[in-house]
Amino acid sequence: MQSPVCRRLVLVLGDQLDRNGPALAGLDAGQDWVWMCEARAEATQVPSHKARTALFLSGMRHFRDRLLAGGIPVRYRALDRESDPSLGAGLGAELKALRPRRVILTQPGEHRVLAELKGVCEAAGTHLEVREDTHFLCSTGDFAAWAGRRSTLVLEHFYRHLRRRESVLMDGDEPLGGRWNRDTENRKPLGRRGPGLVPSPLASPPDQTTRAVMDLVEVQFPRAPGRLDCFDWPVTPEQAQGALADFIDHRLPCFGPYQDAMWTGQPYLYHARISTALNLRLLDPRRPIAVAVEALQSGRAPLNSVEGFVRQILGWREYVRGVYWREGPGYLERNALDAHQPLPAFYWTGETDYACLRAVIGQVLETGYAHHIQRLMITGLFALLLGVEPRQIHAWYLGMFVDAVEWVEAPNTLGMSQYADGGLLTSKPYAASGAYINRMSNYCAGCRFDPGEALGERACPFTTLYWDFLARHRVRFSSHPRTALQWRNLERLEPERLKVIRQAAEALRRSLA
Ligand code: FAD
Ligand code: SF4
Repeated sequence: MQSPVCRRLVLVLGDQLDRNGPALAGLDAGQDWVWMCEARAEATQVPSHKARTALFLSGMRHFRDRLLAGGIPVRYRALDRESDPSLGAGLGAELKALRPRRVILTQPGEHRVLAELKGVCEAAGTHLEVREDTHFLCSTGDFAAWAGRRSTLVLEHFYRHLRRRESVLMDGDEPLGGRWNRDTENRKPLGRRGPGLVPSPLASPPDQTTRAVMDLVEVQFPRAPGRLDCFDWPVTPEQAQGALADFIDHRLPCFGPYQDAMWTGQPYLYHARISTALNLRLLDPRRPIAVAVEALQSGRAPLNSVEGFVRQILGWREYVRGVYWREGPGYLERNALDAHQPLPAFYWTGETDYACLRAVIGQVLETGYAHHIQRLMITGLFALLLGVEPRQIHAWYLGMFVDAVEWVEAPNTLGMSQYADGGLLTSKPYAASGAYINRMSNYCAGCRFDPGEALGERACPFTTLYWDFLARHRVRFSSHPRTALQWRNLERLEPERLKVIRQAAEALRRSLA
């Protein structure tokens, strides 16, 4: 059989599902082909939650169908028993069959994928054109220019720079309302009575395409972690717009004050639940920023909530992406705190007596989601205090969350949560005892441990490990201006008591190895 004529092969990866994406610009349906591939390795290179795999496959199939309906030719390699083991293998076979003059790709979200695809094109002698990803407001070049030779990259400075540049929430050259940061009005606990009735987020129930993909995932990856019965993530741009509108109308007003709060049985509280839609490119980041600002202007949401929300997308999201590309693949190897403990087995099952970890990991297994503070101050904090090897906790976050793509996951995990980059991303480790969790949630009320105890039968592991963490890293942090105050707390402890706490921490570590 004669192979079809192909001038340019335009690659669309599972997190590049935007019809206006750079790789698709200038596509000529008469002589170019789009290429998409459901490669097995993308679901197995870290143990991937069933919902994460289903989300990507369903999003891809919907996008393929949309392209085909628009008259764009697509070569689609679907996942089945004989499917390509890796993206590279799939592309290699396609280059042989089609012999395109050029391959076009939007910059992918992972160093590994870029290197793999480059290698295949090189081996085949086909020119690869990698286009800048215009989904982001800040290009990698802009970020590098902003970062210059700085040894620490302060989010706050970057955020102000971008807010000024994009004229978001500005009053001339000053921040709207006179202050850049509204943290004093935000980050509140919910109080003893809890949140009351929280509006449930709009669900996107599985359609026929998604159901077919869910069946496929169960057959192909029966031992993968997580469940699929709660799957209701947006898989089309229309569903993504609906999810955003629902957040703006019902949860944005409370987002600011309660963005750090946690409550049993409330995985989403007032969070937007749009990271999957953004990361798969079903939603352009300019849209949530614009509609949140509109909500402020029309009096439907207060400034503290809108500013807090804008900070996450215009600030953090753009910032971590800049860090990922600036630091290169070596970032993944960093281990500034010299941590080597294995990840406790209960991270894969949720089977533990620690109520906070049981609740959050159980929720992740069920939905593939936890909100930011659950990730940072429950699962991340425990790994930090225990001293888990950064690569192991990185693999867990990359596999277990529906919104995980390495450019956003790695700086959050290795930098913000584990301090593995030695303070490039945050000036001090997010270390806290069980008292923080008790203040910000109701988890401790249902736990057989006591957040106030570091020793004894009811000792909270966070509290025991917290003191041990301070003692272990005393030399590094006690003279640093940003951390000295926290480390001075060690002086409150009798040396003998600290010694016993450290022995208890060591015993805990042995029992979880
Ligand atoms: P909201 O809390 O409602 O925030 C709105 C949006 O802001 C999010 O959708 C997201 O796009 C953006 N945002 C908020 N915080 C961050 C942040 N720290 N970095 C980048 N963007 C942010 N986010 C991912 O998208 N993918 C990941 O793999 C990921 N891994 C993380 C790992 C760790 C250890 C930590 C601490 C955070 C991680 N985050 C990740 C950031 C954040 O937790 C999620 O973006 C957020 O919980 C998604 O839920 P939401 O849409 O309800 O967000
Ligand atoms: Fe978690 Fe400790 Fe509170 Fe139990 S007592 S829920 S382990 S913080």
